[in-house]
Amino acid sequence: MRYAIVGGTGVYNLEGVSTVERTVETRFGEATIYEGLHEFSDIVFLTRHGKDHTIPPHKVNYRANIAALKKIGVERALGLYCVGSLKTLIAPGDFVLLDQFIDQTYNREDTFYSGGEYGLVHTDMVRPFCNTLRNLILKEAKNQNFRIMPYGNYICFNGPRFETAAEIRYFAQIGGDVIGMTGATETMLFREAGIHYAAAAFSINFGAGLLSEKMEFKRDGLNDDIQKLSKIFISVLRDSFNQECNCNTAQRFNSSPTIDIFA
Ligand SMILES: [Zn+2]
Repeated sequence: MRYAIVGGTGVYNLEGVSTVERTVETRFGEATIYEGLHEFSDIVFLTRHGKDHTIPPHKVNYRANIAALKKIGVERALGLYCVGSLKTLIAPGDFVLLDQFIDQTYNREDTFYSGGEYGLVHTDMVRPFCNTLRNLILKEAKNQNFRIMPYGNYICFNGPRFETAAEIRYFAQIGGDVIGMTGATETMLFREAGIHYAAAAFSINFGAGLLSEKMEFKRDGLNDDIQKLSKIFISVLRDSFNQECNCNTAQRFNSSPTIDIFA
């Protein structure tokens, strides 16, 4: 079985992990992945904004990225998102384990099942993240004294601009905890692809106008924390599931694709 870790910049630069870059062709375009070598050969790393961090969130080819992981045999994946906080309770530097999202994006290619030969499929999103992986992360984080809040509702904002102060107030009022620009789109596609997926968010700022007029970003310690969390992620991915988990069969087929969409 193969596993994937998806992140912004930095996740494929883990200490002691060497990787090799590979381009995977899919029906949705090309994706660049980093395959772990030696004792990490079961792990694949994907950096959603490209290796030079030049692809803005509304232009990421999400379908190619996730179809590439599916094509090479990934069955479980974990993601990391840098986010803004919508609540003062979540301070910059804090980690949140996501359990829900609200999608506010538009004009994105965010489904594999686009009709015709790609089929018409509705996917269950009641609990969009894999609960088995979530529970394993909480258990392993506790073992390793890594502080992470157990629940978080992620607002997915289209970007690339930041939000207005009024938007931040609105998103907090409708129940958001953190805000980013990529998480919902990725999570939907993982679920459509039948890959178990869970994700953590790292706050780097308070949302616009929440505490001050000026946007300030905290990235100190981020790399150390990513290193720690990635070790937790690797051990969680390799842990054999000992509880029933059927989140990889959430699709409701109205008409099945007539082609292998992940070929
Ligand atoms: Zn699952």
